[in-house]
Amino acid sequence: MFKDLKGKRVLITGSTQGIGLAVAKAFAALGAKVGLNGRQAPADLPDTLAGMRQTGEAEFFAADLGKTSECERLIHEFVARFGGVDVLINNAGALVARKPLEQIDDAFYNAVCDVNMRSALMCTRFALPHLRAAALDSGETAAVISTSSIAAHLGGGPGAGLYGAAKAWLNAENKNWVSYHTQDRIRFNIVSPGVVDTAFHADKGPEARASLSATIPMGRFGTPEEIAPAYLFFASHACSGYITGQILDVNGGQYMH
Ligand code: NAP
Repeated sequence: MFKDLKGKRVLITGSTQGIGLAVAKAFAALGAKVGLNGRQAPADLPDTLAGMRQTGEAEFFAADLGKTSECERLIHEFVARFGGVDVLINNAGALVARKPLEQIDDAFYNAVCDVNMRSALMCTRFALPHLRAAALDSGETAAVISTSSIAAHLGGGPGAGLYGAAKAWLNAENKNWVSYHTQDRIRFNIVSPGVVDTAFHADKGPEARASLSATIPMGRFGTPEEIAPAYLFFASHACSGYITGQILDVNGGQYMH
């Protein structure tokens, strides 16, 4: 499966750790050309790149995607390195902090919206001509896959209302992209994780983890590696060439439509 991903040029935002890194490794294992991104290079970057280069190509691009100019520069640098974009994965996102409604100020509002909304919007905007060209060249479809969250369905946990709303915005924005860019032969889909064991939950002690796990029918957090195949599926034209505008929830049964 996923044989058609070999040689595909895949840019994954927010991929120096957690879900993004697991996704990046999964694509590299299939022989893809993978762009890693984060605001800064992690200490273990040389080892990570060396591992990925055993089967694919891999490069790191530092960019703070909360800024439009950095989104533009990232796409430009990725295209300069790999010659185009077949698959864009809008994965950069963050809670930033937990703030109840009474504590939300403009700085917090901007921070949450910038990292979760602006990053996906502007990366998609600047990648669009390259995705269009890639689809024309290949005769297949190009793909944009965005990472949403169970919080978009449920409204977010304590102090995470703005985060949940930003992810719900992403779900709605994705529908607009489908309506107006399907003629460009680009498919737009969403992976919507539940509770995944990453630094995202670093603030939780054993008790909080246990009570959260009890709300999940599978009784545990998911792992980044369990989320990654959903991205492979949406990226592969052979597997999902007629699928667009969909949200795939990967959450151990914690939320069911
Ligand atoms: P994570 O472990 O905290 O990783 C976040 C990644 O995003 C890091 O590589 C980080 O690198 C990068 N990043 C953060 N801000 C950035 C910025 N301004 N510009 C560029 N890169 C940035 O988080 P994760 O749990 O893997 O989350 C990945 C995605 O899944 C996010 O969109 C998150 O909202 C979503 N999600 C997570 C969960 C969960 O339970 N873990 C559930 C639902 C949805 P730097 O810090 O170096 O910038």
